[in-house]
Amino acid sequence: MALKRRTIEYYLGLDKFVVDDEHAHITLKKELCRTCPGKPCTVACPAGLYKLKDGEVEFDYAGCLECGTCRAVCPQSGTALTWAYPKGGFGVSFRYG
Ligand code: SF4
Ligand code: SF4
Repeated sequence: MALKRRTIEYYLGLDKFVVDDEHAHITLKKELCRTCPGKPCTVACPAGLYKLKDGEVEFDYAGCLECGTCRAVCPQSGTALTWAYPKGGFGVSFRYG
């Protein structure tokens, strides 16, 4: 039996997100990001939440899969990028049924 090829949009559609509009669980310091060589977050995030626009990184935490990849690849993790899980009741979950 051949496996069906699925798009990333298909898999992201299996998730649901409850976004905490009051508290961002990931934040960036744009002035530090400007000096970042390669800006690896823009290619590593599986949800494609880091975008390059006119040389600047734009980020929206809504849609975060909480995988921690950006924290792992960021050379300035803890300074340019702060990362935490969303507060209870917020964040990603699998859409059952
Ligand atoms: S990898 Fe880290 S420091 Fe570099 S652009 Fe992304 S968040 Fe900023
Ligand atoms: S934790 Fe994962 S999904 Fe969320 S912003 Fe970082 S790389 Fe993207």
